[in-house]
Amino acid sequence: MTTSHAVVVGGGIAGLAAARLLAREGVRVTVLEGSPRIGGKLRVSEIAGVPVDEGAESMLARRPEGLDLVRDLGRSGDLVNPGTTSSGILSRGELRPIPSGQVMGVPSDLKALAASHVLSPAGLARVPLDLVLPETPRGGDVSVADYVGARLGGEVVDRLVEPLLGGVYAGRAERLSFESTLPAVAAAARSHRSLIHAVQGIRNAAPKDPGPVFATLPDGLGTLPHLLAADIAEAGGTVRTGATVRELRRRENGWRLTVGPARGPEHLDADAVVVAVPAAPASRLLEPDVPAAARELGGIEYASMAIITLAYRATAFPRLPEGSGYLVPNVECDTARGGRGVKAVTFSSLKWPHLRDREPGVIAVRCSIGRYGEEHLLQRTDEELTATAMAELAATCGVTELPAESRVTRWGGGLPQYNVGHADRVAKVRAAVAGAPGLAVAGAAYDGLGIPACIASARAAALRVLDHLRSREGVGP
Ligand SMILES: Cc1cc2nc3c(=O)[nH]c(=O)nc-3n(C[C@H](O)[C@H](O)[C@H](O)COP(=O)(O)OP(=O)(O)OC[C@H]3O[C@@H](n4cnc5c(N)ncnc54)[C@H](O)[C@@H]3O)c2cc1C
Repeated sequence: MTTSHAVVVGGGIAGLAAARLLAREGVRVTVLEGSPRIGGKLRVSEIAGVPVDEGAESMLARRPEGLDLVRDLGRSGDLVNPGTTSSGILSRGELRPIPSGQVMGVPSDLKALAASHVLSPAGLARVPLDLVLPETPRGGDVSVADYVGARLGGEVVDRLVEPLLGGVYAGRAERLSFESTLPAVAAAARSHRSLIHAVQGIRNAAPKDPGPVFATLPDGLGTLPHLLAADIAEAGGTVRTGATVRELRRRENGWRLTVGPARGPEHLDADAVVVAVPAAPASRLLEPDVPAAARELGGIEYASMAIITLAYRATAFPRLPEGSGYLVPNVECDTARGGRGVKAVTFSSLKWPHLRDREPGVIAVRCSIGRYGEEHLLQRTDEELTATAMAELAATCGVTELPAESRVTRWGGGLPQYNVGHADRVAKVRAAVAGAPGLAVAGAAYDGLGIPACIASARAAALRVLDHLRSREGVGP
């Protein structure tokens, strides 16, 4: 199918994965990435001699798409898994274990929950009411806080579910959609009156020895986009950076893209287009010809955050922390309530033993700051954010030494918020896009923002485009 030309807008993981599939199917592909580098939220750089990701650092290994892609690139032998899976929660002033038996913070084992001391005695006493309360009515979508709070009480929401969801969405439980952010729990809750029983059902159905939960690449997940770009090039495709797409217009037989600065724009014609950019730029691009999709995309909000990476000498820790890191519930980290503002800490060199092997004398730590609605925290200077992260480690780990190196990465509008009604919104986008021949959308804004989900959406978009091109060329599927 060498006569067809497909353009992929956006060189993040979704755009590159879609482009690779198209290129491997013989389509002439051009990826247009607006920024000077490919990868989007995947980026890695060295700090004190250790390659530490600045954005996404691990892929869920319980979904196949990420691992399959790495395997298709001939790199499955390179995959590494965390050395420790235990992590903590800073609750009621102390670091405590995340109780076993939970699914995204929703507990199923009351004994483990009690033993963790994450909840106050009153909060803990409220939880078993779930077993006797009548069914919680749920017509359409509801917020996580509304449903989980009604069943298990507000403390479970504040001290378990919101921090775990916060690690993914940096969002607020009172806005996030129960159906879209906890799909397995929400589905199980439809067939159980008790939420505890619903989660027990999920746990019982899970494989007994499911293998590692997460995986990454030895030089960082930020190397994956470059492996993909090399593969696309090998298959004859082109990946361009510094090529912002300003306009997308439908033509009689395809699409025309306007690329580059307003003063010297370049026009590019394509038989098919995959739009793999965040919701706001996708909305702008779709506005002229698919306004119904643009309207819905324009309603998807994003949270901003910063990752502060500190590289300490290992001797700076009076005692090396146990576990891969910890989460800080909003009720603990809220600066208005005397908190420090750090919402999660990852001891990268302890979570990933290959990093420790690389530089045994260095402990790299990633601290994240910023949730939806906390943009004011990010107005601080890099020095102030670094000082905040250092204060967090001094308080929880007793580290008073200055880090050997530090780095601040800001992700403005980094994480889409799957708020109540998200699934309906996405269905409307897809319905509108389905009416535009040769157009597809992919990426974190739609059906999951984890890397495997982005790859799945990329695959679906590429297959849609392939179908269109094949039917145009009169080639059977
Ligand atoms: C700090 C952080 C940590 C994360 N950690 C994890 C993790 O550990 N595991 C995990 O699974 N997920 C994680 N995620 C989520 C995951 O990384 C993202 O959801 C995913 O990488 C998004 O990929 P994407 O291709 O949809 O979009 P993006 O990565 O946003 O890529 C879109 C690309 O489009 C480009 N673009 C935008 N507009 C235009 C235009 N008009 N023309 C051309 N190009 C344009 C952008 O420059 C960008 O490169 C994390 C996210 C963040 C922010």
